[in-house]
Amino acid sequence: MSDLRPFNTRRLPQPTGFRNIGFTCYYNSLIQSLMSCSSFVDLIAQPRDDKFLSALHNTIADPTTIPYSWSILMQSIVKKSPNNAYFTNGQQCAAELYTLLLDVIDQEEDIQELFTYRRQNEIFCPECKKIYSSVTETNNLFDLPLNNGNVKDQSSDVPCSTSSTSKNCNTVESFLLRHNSDVDANAVCTLCHSKGPKKKTSRLRLAPEILFINVKQYRCQKQCEKIYESIKFQEWMEFDSTKKLKYRAVAYIQHYGSIGGGHYTAVALRPDQNTTAWYHFDDQSVSAASFAPDDNTYCILYHYVE
Ligand SMILES: [Zn+2]
Repeated sequence: MSDLRPFNTRRLPQPTGFRNIGFTCYYNSLIQSLMSCSSFVDLIAQPRDDKFLSALHNTIADPTTIPYSWSILMQSIVKKSPNNAYFTNGQQCAAELYTLLLDVIDQEEDIQELFTYRRQNEIFCPECKKIYSSVTETNNLFDLPLNNGNVKDQSSDVPCSTSSTSKNCNTVESFLLRHNSDVDANAVCTLCHSKGPKKKTSRLRLAPEILFINVKQYRCQKQCEKIYESIKFQEWMEFDSTKKLKYRAVAYIQHYGSIGGGHYTAVALRPDQNTTAWYHFDDQSVSAASFAPDDNTYCILYHYVE
């Protein structure tokens, strides 16, 4: 965790809007958010063979080329997996685009590393009182379940929608560092072979330079519905594990409207003289904003500071 490069305001591009070619607000919002990550901007500036990353880097100098970079990414996604051809048509999910984008550039290890975290998942058996499974999970997206959503199987370590100073309420930091969840009620212990509910504990072992957090906004039983509930996100986060790690929010993606439709915008940091300022990016339109995630916040990005 010691080689993380800190957030560097000077690397961020100027605030500029992106043209929407009909349904590409999900793409524009994701790219505006990634452009707030100085480490990412730094790395895509290096010469690369990857056509999409070169196109993306060109959008910094010439934002009018944004539709071109979108089409290159779509071609790469389909080339990688023809099953994803549906993704090239119409409005898509910004969080899913993020995972597909990283999948397409899987040869670019330095960029992958920016987002990759590791956590240890241990399953405890209440019968024999032993940990019977311990696996390391590698991922690049933190899923944050909403408190009263379809997550009643989560323990009390779930982040809450009210102030994080409340005693019964854990913060986003503590959830990312360590949380419990219930395993399938039919899980069988490999040591004592007892069948029944078990508890899984996930602990963060390696924090990345950029934390990409996705809020699970949908509750799906017979049908899916959007959950209107907000998590208390702080502009600054501090992980107090073996070493203190400080992060700051650099962007978040808003989703308005229903499942399978709606509109995406981004609120992101850009340079402002010697400091930074928040801007709201709604495709071509750019306006001054403040850090105020709400119940439409769908993804939020934090960058390592010190
Ligand atoms: Zn057991």
